[in-house]
Amino acid sequence: MARPRRIKTLNVHIKIIGRQNVAINNIISATNEIFAQANIAVQFAPVEQLNLSQDELEFLEPMDVGACRRKPSEDQIQISTNRNNAGVKDVVVYICETVMGNVSLGGCATHPRGVPMVVMASQTVNSVLAHELAHLLKLDHCGHDLFNRLMNSSVDDVPPPLVLTESEIRDMRRSSLLS
Ligand SMILES: [Zn+2]
Repeated sequence: MARPRRIKTLNVHIKIIGRQNVAINNIISATNEIFAQANIAVQFAPVEQLNLSQDELEFLEPMDVGACRRKPSEDQIQISTNRNNAGVKDVVVYICETVMGNVSLGGCATHPRGVPMVVMASQTVNSVLAHELAHLLKLDHCGHDLFNRLMNSSVDDVPPPLVLTESEIRDMRRSSLLS
C-alpha cells in the first residue's frame, strides 16, 4: 500500500477586477475538493477588490491573453503588478469579466517570470481555477478525449468529478510553490 502523503499547502489570493458578482465560495470549494486528491490544501487569503483607475479598467477589459502559451500578454504583464500583500510563492488569481485569447478560454496561467498568477473569467465553470493552478504546478494537458480529467484541454466542458492521476499528483507535489 502507498504511504500516506503529508499535506502540502498552496497559498492563493483572489483579486477582483471591476464590479462583478463572483461565486467565490463555489470556486473555493471546487478547488479544494480537486486538490484534496493530491493532499494539497489550498489556503485562500481574504478576497480583495482591486482599486484600479478607469483607464486601467478599460485597458484590462477584456483581459487579452493572446495565445496563452509561454509569453504573457501586455494585459497580463500590466495586471501582474497588483500583487499587493501576496508573498513571492503565493499565487494571485485575477478574476476578470472576460478573458479573451486566440481560442476561447475561461482562464490562463501564463505569467511573467517569477510572478505566479492566473487570470480567470468570473462566469466560467468553477473547476477552471484548479485547472489553471495545476498548470502553475507544472502539469500539462492530457488532450481532450479523457472526459474525467482535470487536465483535459477543454476543462470548461468536462463535468465534475475531475480526476488527477497518480503521476500528475507526484509531479505537482514537487512544485516549489508548495510548502
Ligand atoms: Zn489548460
